Amino acid sequence: MSPVVELEDVRKSFGSLEVLKGVSFSVERGQVAALIGQSGSGKSTALRCMDRLETIQGGRLTVCGHALHEPGVKLSDLRRDVGIVFQGYNLFPHLTVAQNVMLAPRLVRKMSKAQAKDRAEQVLARVGLAEKLGAYPEQLSGGQQQRVAIARGLAMEPKLMLFDEVTSALDPQLTGEVLRVIEQLASEGMTMVLVTHEMEFARRVADRIVYMHLGKVHESGGPEILTRPATPELARFLEAA
Ligand code: ADP
Ligand code: MG
Repeated sequence: MSPVVELEDVRKSFGSLEVLKGVSFSVERGQVAALIGQSGSGKSTALRCMDRLETIQGGRLTVCGHALHEPGVKLSDLRRDVGIVFQGYNLFPHLTVAQNVMLAPRLVRKMSKAQAKDRAEQVLARVGLAEKLGAYPEQLSGGQQQRVAIARGLAMEPKLMLFDEVTSALDPQLTGEVLRVIEQLASEGMTMVLVTHEMEFARRVADRIVYMHLGKVHESGGPEILTRPATPELARFLEAA
């Protein structure tokens, strides 16, 4: 079976700044890959390319069978298959938790209101927020808001979930509750790519570690590379982390 995510020599520039300088790695079905590296190394850009929030300028990028390097990608088809969660929760403040989660299933999947409501209840229960259906985002803690954002992604029944430093705005206690949800998804077999600076979490949850440095994959392998890095750059990064 082909990988869920496959990058081959992916290139991306912003103006004259080359941010991805030939990035290659793949993620198999059911695998969790953790993207780590210094700020500015291109992690978020790589992740955003996978959901076509950025277009690549060279190489090949296939996500859930969609060839994003070819013209004519149907974004609505891609977005059905891929859920993405960012550091900021991006919830609509004037909508309840349930309405936030129901939005995409209603608009993209054309579900009936009742179907979407069922789905919302289901996914909110999965992230431990069944009792918050009618709450507004501002009534929730940061960790709860982030779990709503994850539920919103899950509501589309994605084949792939992407997480970009989803705990970096949270204090340690709230970080734990969000990481536990992600860990639960991993144990259920969800294919995921996570950008994270939580090294202990990456070691525990990821099948594959991808260390990015200066726009390239500098080192990658199993979680053991976090204990025995092969390159001085990764060793130095881990010491500082
Ligand atoms: P990371 O997530 O590893 O911190 P990013 O992918 O966010 O790195 O950024 C890599 C580089 O690309 C940085 O130098 C950043 O300033 C630049 N960059 C990211 N997005 C844009 C953009 N939309 N326009 C211009 N430069 C950008
Ligand atoms: Mg980033």
